[in-house]
Amino acid sequence: MLTLISQLIIAVTGFLAALLLMYGLKRMSSPATAASGIRVAGVGMLAAVIAAFLYCFNLDPAAQPHIWVNLGLAILAMAIGGSIAWWSGKTVKMTAMPQMVAIYNGMGGGAAAAIAAVELFGGRTNGTTELIVTLFGAMIGSLSLSGSIIAWAKLDGVLKAPLQFGGQQMLNLVVAAVTLVVGAAIVVAVAGGPALLPLPGLIALFFGCALVFGILMTLPIGGADMPVVISIYNAATGLAVGLEGYVLHNPALMIAGMVVGAAGTLLTVLMAQAMNRTIFNVLFKRFGATKGQKHSAIAGEEKPVEAGDAAIFMRYAKSVIIVPGYGLAVSQGQQKLYDFVKLLVAAKVSVKFAIHPVAGRMPGQMDVLLAEAGVPYDMIFQLADINDQFATTDVALIIGANDVVNPAARTDKSSPIFGMPILNADKAKKVYVVKRGQGKGYSGVVNGLFYEPEAFMVYGDASAVLGKMIEAVKGLGKAAA
Ligand code: NAP
Repeated sequence: MLTLISQLIIAVTGFLAALLLMYGLKRMSSPATAASGIRVAGVGMLAAVIAAFLYCFNLDPAAQPHIWVNLGLAILAMAIGGSIAWWSGKTVKMTAMPQMVAIYNGMGGGAAAAIAAVELFGGRTNGTTELIVTLFGAMIGSLSLSGSIIAWAKLDGVLKAPLQFGGQQMLNLVVAAVTLVVGAAIVVAVAGGPALLPLPGLIALFFGCALVFGILMTLPIGGADMPVVISIYNAATGLAVGLEGYVLHNPALMIAGMVVGAAGTLLTVLMAQAMNRTIFNVLFKRFGATKGQKHSAIAGEEKPVEAGDAAIFMRYAKSVIIVPGYGLAVSQGQQKLYDFVKLLVAAKVSVKFAIHPVAGRMPGQMDVLLAEAGVPYDMIFQLADINDQFATTDVALIIGANDVVNPAARTDKSSPIFGMPILNADKAKKVYVVKRGQGKGYSGVVNGLFYEPEAFMVYGDASAVLGKMIEAVKGLGKAAA
């Protein structure tokens, strides 16, 4: 039996967990405070776990005969899961973060679905409302699990292209409808009504349909929509966890789930807005989806220049806007980039960074990269705040970016990125592009900007090129002395 005092301790610990989670989330909204925000939220999670354990310790042993075995198993699972998470968090490469985020989203959804499975197969739900809530949590958790695994496979390159076939949307609709009908059949069967299948069979069918729905929903999505999809599953996982928190009467789980769900929903809406997309279009209409049209041909050729020449031109320019992209993260050249920028600033060049909402492979990746190198926040501008300034800027320096500056997004209806807002780097007076060769961007299309008369290519790994640029500018100083 829970005594009044132990109930109070559990409630206070749960409340503290909720406060810490929300405060941590607030701090994550700025790159300057994000790292401490993650630590605060981590302490919040610890408080939530402690609250859950306190709750278990106070249960009546007569009503919970396996309590000690279960607690032992929970501790073992936490030790194994925690060790794997610690190891993967320590060793993951910055460029593989999106895959990791996708798979951990899926784990959260899977955990919520597992709780629901225990409740449903064990016949432990209390009343129709609790049963319906459990079923919704099970469905959302299951589709988040299977959908996130497909998202992981796409981001990791295991699945190459979006899989599309005729009648796909109809099939998705049918599977979604069947899942809901089977869920309703479970409610009827539990209430003592007629059952088409024995209850465990119905429950297994329900989970199977939800898992298949998650796979089918994610398979056709690709390109610039992937960040939004990951964010949708993040929100869905939070919702599923919150619903299962309600079923378990665990306020800490409910609050943690709802905080994740609400934050994920906001992120989804903001990402979709930044990409000029509705959530409906992300899920049901591909970016630039065109039936059999050929991508527009590109005339001209790329013009290579030496890193040193480009650096010296920028040293004598009045203004430079830098567009970092995925390749900068691959090369880990952020520190050298900032060292180069410091040289330009010392020579009275106005330098700004322009960040596209989906640059790199995860939301905020470029902000984190630049923050890591110590770039001051007042040098960093988001797309809407800087796009008009390219036209009056001497040089746009594109480092390891491609899709986010591809003008085809504005003009070429047959391009898979048509409609995506881009950074107006092509409007600058001169454009330097640092990349290793003629590799395409994430969406797999050629970038016509690289063939423009005022665009020049500096071929090489971003970090190596920046090293040469630094040497060239420093060399100028030595020559003058
Ligand atoms: P991008 O379009 O993927 O282009 C990156 C470019 O970097 C490539 O063309 C590549 O060309 C170059 N590169 C690779 N390694 C390099 C290195 N070591 N040094 C120098 N250059 C290197 O990148 P982006 O412009 O940042 O656009 C992001 C794309 O990813 C968008 O299509 C977006 O939708 C998608 N996406 C974003 C997210 C997100 O949340 N941000 C998530 C999933 C997908 P070379 O091979 O010739 O070097």
